Amino acid sequence: MPVDTGHSQVGASTCERWWNCPGSNALIATLPTPPATSYAAEGTVAHALCEHVLKNKVCFCAQWDATSMIGEVMEADDFEFKVTDEMANAANLYVNTILEDAKRIECNLRKSVQLEGNNKEAWKHWDKDTQEKIYQPWVNIEQPFTLDDVDPEARGTNDASIFVPGETLIVYDFKYGKGVPVEAIENKQMLYYAIGAAGDKLMNFKSIELVIVQPRAEHPQGPVRRWITTPQYVNTFKQELARRIKATRTSDKTETGKWCRFCNAKMICPATRTKVNEIAKADFQEPVKANALKSPDRLTPLELKVLLDNADLIENYIKEVREYAFNLLDRGGTVEGYKLVKGGKAHRKWENEDLAASMLELEFGEDEIYKTSLKSPAQIEKLGGSAKEVVELYSIRPDSKLVLARDTDVRERQNQKALADFDDIDLG
Ligand code: SF4
Repeated sequence: MPVDTGHSQVGASTCERWWNCPGSNALIATLPTPPATSYAAEGTVAHALCEHVLKNKVCFCAQWDATSMIGEVMEADDFEFKVTDEMANAANLYVNTILEDAKRIECNLRKSVQLEGNNKEAWKHWDKDTQEKIYQPWVNIEQPFTLDDVDPEARGTNDASIFVPGETLIVYDFKYGKGVPVEAIENKQMLYYAIGAAGDKLMNFKSIELVIVQPRAEHPQGPVRRWITTPQYVNTFKQELARRIKATRTSDKTETGKWCRFCNAKMICPATRTKVNEIAKADFQEPVKANALKSPDRLTPLELKVLLDNADLIENYIKEVREYAFNLLDRGGTVEGYKLVKGGKAHRKWENEDLAASMLELEFGEDEIYKTSLKSPAQIEKLGGSAKEVVELYSIRPDSKLVLARDTDVRERQNQKALADFDDIDLG
């Protein structure tokens, strides 16, 4: 029977939200489905590229990688994207991470890959009780799963996983986003995937490893983060998962937190409104007076902390309010005191780039119409040979900008002297 891969309200990717805020699902269900965004579509395309390269590497030992697809057009949700250097490098990092792990554990990829359907065939290799067959590690790519023993609606698709029967299960998740670095440690989405990947063999593993590959977000541990846990930990999570899924249907409790960032219900969420009201100490029935909010230097230490603790929430709420007003006006509605206007003049662009290039070349010559620029150290490194050493010799890595972070952040605290060394302090 084919595995249901349709959208689930209690799916893995939104687990952090509904786990912490069980009432969010009911609120979201009252809203129309939000339109696809180019940001999400770009992530889908990057995932499709990863899958394509990994399958070809694993099944056919392809000698090419994602670099050879640079410039090709890929489509998702009616958005088109050209594969860029950045996207190709991200896909290569993901694929190479898996291939290197497979090599390390002597997983014979070609013989062991499972691409579609459920795990049944793959499990035949693992008859741990009778050991009728010599079993070996294998890889699953884009494997859909259902968690029937957790909930009929619990399902998902793993980006990839490697099985070493009786030993370890490695679960991979590729993230193309760059705004929010994702931690592997106790990551609920990954634990959910691990349950799906393990099937009924969860307790037969000795360890379970969760691997996040997020090439575009800065993180002190680099773009590949790993966390190793035990089947017992995952099993405890599984029991709790069933309870939390149930709560999304029985509780209307809403709870604000960092998980609100990607929640579509912010505009209609009572918890967010209460929180924003509390923080701003302003009654939105009345126009906010210019002096209703204290200037930052007059805040008490506690007020400063409370505002920082809730800064994401407030910023996201304001952003949603602006988007809502824009869409309302765009659809012909009214917002007292507001209207839509054209923004500043857009930059001119060539109507037909090929035609313009040939005409300009005739008129001014090739040298005048094109500019060349030095490639980045990372691009030069790819030239191979001595490129790495030469780049090492002539490149520097400037210090990153200082950013404000919670003290639970894994990055090292910078001292005040460091502050003086930076012209720009990014509070984002
Ligand atoms: S905005 Fe936050 S508190 Fe409100 S429903 Fe969404 S996740 Fe829950």
